[in-house]
Amino acid sequence: MNSPTDTTALAQDEAVQLTSELIRIDTTNTGEPDTTVGEQAAAEYVAGKLAEVGYDVTSLESGAKGRANVFARLEGADPARGALLVHGHLDVVPADPTEWSVHPFSGAIQDGYIWGRGAVDMKDMVGMTLAVARRFKRDGVVPPRDLVFAFLADEEAGGALGAQWLVDHRPDLFAGVTEAVGEVGGFSITLADDLRAYTIEIAEKGIAWMRLRVRGRAGHGSMLHDDNAVTKLAAAVARLGQHQFPLVVTDSVRAFLDSMTELTGLEFDEDDLAGSVAKLGPFARVVGATLRDTANPTMLTAGYKANVIPSVAEAVVDCRVLPGREAAFERELDEILGPDVEREWITHLPSVETTFDGPLVDAMTAAVQAEDPGARTVPYVLSGGTDAKAIHTLGIRCFGFAPLRLPPDFDFTALFHGVDERVPVDAVRFGTRVLDRFLRSC
Ligand SMILES: [Zn+2]
Repeated sequence: MNSPTDTTALAQDEAVQLTSELIRIDTTNTGEPDTTVGEQAAAEYVAGKLAEVGYDVTSLESGAKGRANVFARLEGADPARGALLVHGHLDVVPADPTEWSVHPFSGAIQDGYIWGRGAVDMKDMVGMTLAVARRFKRDGVVPPRDLVFAFLADEEAGGALGAQWLVDHRPDLFAGVTEAVGEVGGFSITLADDLRAYTIEIAEKGIAWMRLRVRGRAGHGSMLHDDNAVTKLAAAVARLGQHQFPLVVTDSVRAFLDSMTELTGLEFDEDDLAGSVAKLGPFARVVGATLRDTANPTMLTAGYKANVIPSVAEAVVDCRVLPGREAAFERELDEILGPDVEREWITHLPSVETTFDGPLVDAMTAAVQAEDPGARTVPYVLSGGTDAKAIHTLGIRCFGFAPLRLPPDFDFTALFHGVDERVPVDAVRFGTRVLDRFLRSC
């Protein structure tokens, strides 16, 4: 029989090993179902690790061959309480090995880091979750409430063949779940020598990918022509790309800024909010993008020959919309684009927002503080999107909490989808201890 200390150490060792092994399974999500092939192997690996210690595992495909997902439930002490979902995605974005110092699918453990695509997004959290789930089963730990572990496909392409499909077609898998934790939060930002704030994601901007289309009269490029689709579209795209949407401090962003002021004394001047947010260091990259809606043109298509004026021109724009701003954003959009431009949503995933309070938040804070005394937790808004977009539509409160204690100078957010993605081994060991405490007290 192992002592608790032994099993704590074992879980931390396992989390590091599992993360490395998961990285070695190339689960690149190209965005094209035909060329996205690795999720099946990763799901089989995860299912095997859970079954090995005695879990009843549900493995299923989400809408297409090979888009594999794994669910397992651990019964808690109080079945009357809603279950907590702990979810992670198994896919990763592509990586070009020629740009990397180590092969992106090597899972190398060297220089104090686990290296490879997925190291922070998010095979680290998958490894930590698996390690804690395995420990609980081996040690006979009964958590206070049911825990549902979910390992999902297709997050990196928006989840249509992953979380969104499961929510639409298999809501039974989420039965009884009232709250959820997943990416992107729980990592530390160093505010002073020995003062760290751990971010907890409580909101996400909406994702709205939009196609613009302008129709005109086709004609010969050599002649006078006052109804050119390319000219009209280009003007509309330029107007939109140069437009700055109004500064809006949502409740969630206000909660983050207030916490920062309290912890650091830094004031966030309303007249120069972007400037004062920049003082937060690398994390300003995320926070700055949560101060207003954005609309970035990303694709243009028109024409087929130099001397033919085409009758149609199209563009794609990546819009990110703050919670509560949807209607105002669309009104502003229509004003900028004008009557000649048709628009349609290619992808439209509304924003997500909850509040930074309640026993679950207290449990996260307590678990962090037990491992990092004096640390604080702070709520924040993610400028991107996660599987929480789909999961929250079931009425589930979603948080981003994948705990990592990071070195002060480590530019964590730059590693998401970045070159030389890596996670400190110590951070994964720390995160495993925090997750373990959290899930015992949730
Ligand atoms: Zn991710």
